[in-house]
Amino acid sequence: MKKISVVIPVYNEEEVVKKCYVKLKETLENIIDYENEMIFIDDGSKDKTLEFLETIANENKNVKILSFSRNFGHQCAVTAGLRETTGDAVVIIDSDLQDPPELIPEMLKLWEDGNDVIYGKRKKRKGESCFKLFTAKMFYKTLNKLSDVEIPKDTGDFRLVDRKVVDTINNLPEHNKFLRGLFSWVGFKTVPFEYERNERAAGKTKYPLKKMLKLASDGIISFSNKPLKIIGGIGIFSIFISFIILIYALLSFFLKWNDLTPGWTSLMVAITFFAGVQLSSLWIISEYISRIYDESKNRPEYIINKKINL
Ligand code: UDP
Ligand code: MG
Repeated sequence: MKKISVVIPVYNEEEVVKKCYVKLKETLENIIDYENEMIFIDDGSKDKTLEFLETIANENKNVKILSFSRNFGHQCAVTAGLRETTGDAVVIIDSDLQDPPELIPEMLKLWEDGNDVIYGKRKKRKGESCFKLFTAKMFYKTLNKLSDVEIPKDTGDFRLVDRKVVDTINNLPEHNKFLRGLFSWVGFKTVPFEYERNERAAGKTKYPLKKMLKLASDGIISFSNKPLKIIGGIGIFSIFISFIILIYALLSFFLKWNDLTPGWTSLMVAITFFAGVQLSSLWIISEYISRIYDESKNRPEYIINKKINL
């Protein structure tokens, strides 16, 4: 019998996790001819999420739990979940019911037709702020300009993937993973699956601006070296500008074009401009270096505190 695994990262979701479980269970039980497993990854929740998960895991052996020692972030939680899956097809889904579980059977059909990655593409996004929609749009535009692999816009991590793709992802050693980019990078037969993204069933987003920025910079930095090249371009451009200022300064000194405190303005402009260019370049370089540093420390991406039914 074939098996379907569902990976659900949860972080402080006591308000929705029950609803999510009930809905998923119902959906999976209606998919006859398939065994199923639900792998919940408790990403260091501080509320009653883990307590609830433990009670359902006691009743239902198809519920498996990984609990982290602290909050390591959504991408780490999904990474850990993927490593525990044993199904032939694997679904990654959010716990807040923004990605509707009832779509799984249709995605499964596409998989049975021979597709390896069926990724959810958001036709409509309900209940998300203008700020989030705008920044997300800008992010995917920038990312696709900079990156060599095409990363589809309006997608998250909601997708159904074949076992061989999961195995490939599991064997990638890099830290700070940007999973939706890696799924594009590894290739395989990929098709979009359009859906309307609901509002969160309850609770608040667990992706504050700080986490969004981390995800965005992981995305850009792990999929593109172009920012480094852009700094090179800016550097050459500023040398060119400084030459013009130099020539102007020399001419005004020798030809006595003006006798006010000469050169003050151009000097200030040059100093502030170049200081800005240098500092922002250093910032970009340091983002790369900090990730090289992370990789070289070779620490685990997450620490597991407890495993249940695994
Ligand atoms: N999540 C997680 N760890 C985190 C942040 C989020 O496991 O540090 C989970 C969260 O519980 C949810 C999913 O990742 O199941 C997506 O998070 P959320 O819905 O808050 O993000 P949004 O939909 O607002 O982008
Ligand atoms: Mg959400």
